[in-house]
Amino acid sequence: MTDVRLKEVSKRFGSFQVCHNIDLDIKAGEFITLLGSSGCGKTTTLNMVAGLEDSTSGDILIGGRRVNDLSPVERDVAMVFQNYALYPHMTVAQNIGFTLKMRGVAASVIREKVQKLAASLELDHVLERFPAQLSGGQQQRVAIGRALIREPRIFLFDEPFSNLDASLRVKMRTEVKQLHVQQNVTSIFVTHDQEEAMSISDRIAVMYRGRVEQFGTPEEIYARPATRYVASFIGSPQIELLDGVLAEANGSMFIRAGEQTLPVNVAPRNFKVGRPVEFGVRPEHVRLGETGLEGRVHMLQPVGPATHVNIDTAAGKFTASVPGFLQAKTGDAVKIDIQAPHVHVFDKETGVRL
Ligand code: ATP
Repeated sequence: MTDVRLKEVSKRFGSFQVCHNIDLDIKAGEFITLLGSSGCGKTTTLNMVAGLEDSTSGDILIGGRRVNDLSPVERDVAMVFQNYALYPHMTVAQNIGFTLKMRGVAASVIREKVQKLAASLELDHVLERFPAQLSGGQQQRVAIGRALIREPRIFLFDEPFSNLDASLRVKMRTEVKQLHVQQNVTSIFVTHDQEEAMSISDRIAVMYRGRVEQFGTPEEIYARPATRYVASFIGSPQIELLDGVLAEANGSMFIRAGEQTLPVNVAPRNFKVGRPVEFGVRPEHVRLGETGLEGRVHMLQPVGPATHVNIDTAAGKFTASVPGFLQAKTGDAVKIDIQAPHVHVFDKETGVRL
């Protein structure tokens, strides 16, 4: 079991800085995800760990040893890409066993290892087929098998499911998670899909414009987003962020938004009357009730287990997620009950959580 550390790792392509002082401390056996929208520097970060890309500055440590100057092979990492890069002229068994063959391992040993791995990946019935005769999901599993057989110290996944359809993605996600539970190899996974990241990771590093905005468990980044960006990137339906200013009345804190006041909890050191903020409430915490902020239904989107309701109020737009099918229509008057602990507040200028 191997830990991985990135210490102030930066990357520049010419004058364009893609990664800024990335600091990550990945524990041995941990499954972490680099999550962010296209172009935020996830793949570049992963490639620097793999040794496929040099860093401009900073240190990369694998198992406590600085590896900046080691080749990908010397780093002993295995990478699974989105295009599986299987050898088309080799069977599944040959594809999976290829690296061991190159290392000169005896054919009988390879056969046994391939069999065992193929069974756990549910590929044992297709071992003699060629890649073109497999489904996308099977090809993906072959690629994973080929990486796993090397028993690498670290597993790197670059958007491995992006070519698969939605249902297969979910299935593969479960399989990769199960494999991780069984094998416990330190893993770094790259995706732009927040649900995928939440469901598979021990911890998630949310990246934005080449920086890590927050590195935490799925619960931490969901329940206590460190920045405005993390709050809006994580969660579906998306949180609505509104403008307001901090205010005080009768010794209690409030947010004033338009002509409305809403309850809020902010650390006292961050509380300053008149401070401009952005704030939001996750849709499942926007509750429709008998009392509270008055609004009108703007749009209803039933999705099965819940109905997403867009509501216009004098403080701004809110999205509520209400269990089941809501019997309401556009234009209906509603009231929303907002509890202070569920209001996420960010400094207007820096976007940092208050
Ligand atoms: P995606 O999800 O689209 O793959 P990403 O978050 O993985 O995005 P990177 O592939 O790391 O992003 O790229 C980050 C930025 O660096 C992008 O703006 C990209 O255009 C730029 N970039 C990547 N490789 C190079 C290169 N070799 N030369 C110049 N710029 C590059």
